[in-house]
Amino acid sequence: MNYKEIFEQISDELKDFDQIGQVATYIPALAKANPNKFGMYLVTEEGHEYDHGDVEENFSIQSISKVLSLVYAFKLVGTDLWRRVGVEPSGSPFNSLVQLEYEQGIPRNPLINAGAIVVCDILVSQLDNPYQDFIQFVRDLSGNPSIDYCKETAQSEKECGFKNNAHINLMKSYGNIDNDVEEVLDFYFHLCSIEMSCKDLAQTFMFLARSGKNPLNNDKVLTARETKRINAIMLLCGFYDEAGEFAFKVGLPGKSGVGGGIVAIYPDQYSVAVWSPGLNSKGNSSKGIKALEIFTTITQSNVFGPSPIFDELEYE
Ligand code: GLN
Repeated sequence: MNYKEIFEQISDELKDFDQIGQVATYIPALAKANPNKFGMYLVTEEGHEYDHGDVEENFSIQSISKVLSLVYAFKLVGTDLWRRVGVEPSGSPFNSLVQLEYEQGIPRNPLINAGAIVVCDILVSQLDNPYQDFIQFVRDLSGNPSIDYCKETAQSEKECGFKNNAHINLMKSYGNIDNDVEEVLDFYFHLCSIEMSCKDLAQTFMFLARSGKNPLNNDKVLTARETKRINAIMLLCGFYDEAGEFAFKVGLPGKSGVGGGIVAIYPDQYSVAVWSPGLNSKGNSSKGIKALEIFTTITQSNVFGPSPIFDELEYE
């Protein structure tokens, strides 16, 4: 399949969507992003790579890192993880506090902020050097040794992280945080601040399309069964209160971040990343979702079964 041509077709079709959505401003460092950036990158099971647009430029991956921290914690503590965090879709915004009190400090899933903070607490307990060990884990998956935290973004989020402070303190009051709240939250902000390009992102997530094997060296990051669980969580929870809509329109497990990145997996076939910083009201990249919707429609690739190619694509 000529994926590059398909990317060009998508970019052409979405020319008029350029101004859709708003760049995230609640973290001041993210407000500087250029809303006109657009990139798509695909890595296939056979090792072929296809690109379009701004694919080499780094951006803040934000909540996309929640999948990587989940994978790392799952590797370290196994199924004990599910005693501290659930696997159900939340149906609420990523930073909503409402369910957390009802559910006595056990977050619905590891991809909302509360869940990712619990995962960070586990990593802080388990790792000798959490910052170093985690970034090395990400570098090994991506094959890019220069991937790093962005101190400025982490600091910027720390200065206005009132809601995340509320989450962690509420969970601490229910006994679901073992370490010092400031230490855990600092680690969480750093994880969100990691910067990558579309190319890095597609490469980093490729192991989830390969039953848990890193394509760069065939190392087993997860077993096939564990990989299935992570992909299931991405499908059900990766887009918060838009997860149903994403499954409905795109049909792949994926994860978004408020930096405007999205990565999605087609098991046994490919990993695809898209970047467009304008967000919709749910905090997901507007143009990114539309691009993936068109992409999976044209390529007839989704986990629910092939769909016919329509003469006219419907976007709404
Ligand atoms: N760092 C962001 C936060 O905690 C991540 C949110 C996101 O990307 N959805 O609010």
